Amino acid sequence: MKTLDELKKENLPKLQFDQIFKAKETCSESDRNNVQKYLDNFVSQNEKHECIQCGVELTGILGSFRWGLVSGEGHCCNCGYPARAHHSIKDENEEEMFTIKNYVLQYHPEVLDDK
Ligand SMILES: [Zn+2]
Repeated sequence: MKTLDELKKENLPKLQFDQIFKAKETCSESDRNNVQKYLDNFVSQNEKHECIQCGVELTGILGSFRWGLVSGEGHCCNCGYPARAHHSIKDENEEEMFTIKNYVLQYHPEVLDDK
């Protein structure tokens, strides 16, 4: 299993707007930028949605994602790597634009503190 330090050095790609949204034509540039700013906190996951740290599948019937104590947050139960499944995306005035529920995204190693 990889350490957080090793993951940070891998420069994993960040999740991109186009990977999860198809609405770019109807979406203003500033909205798009706000959404991307939020997505920068998360890694782009592979098709199988495998944990970036230990490689087990996070979602699906046998998925390793487990809810944590904080609402919307959870982790991979195999290795403990943190993830978020409820998302609240805000605009530049901190007003909520929309929410996404039950969509598991793992945090980008860059935004995590070393322990
Ligand atoms: Zn894991």
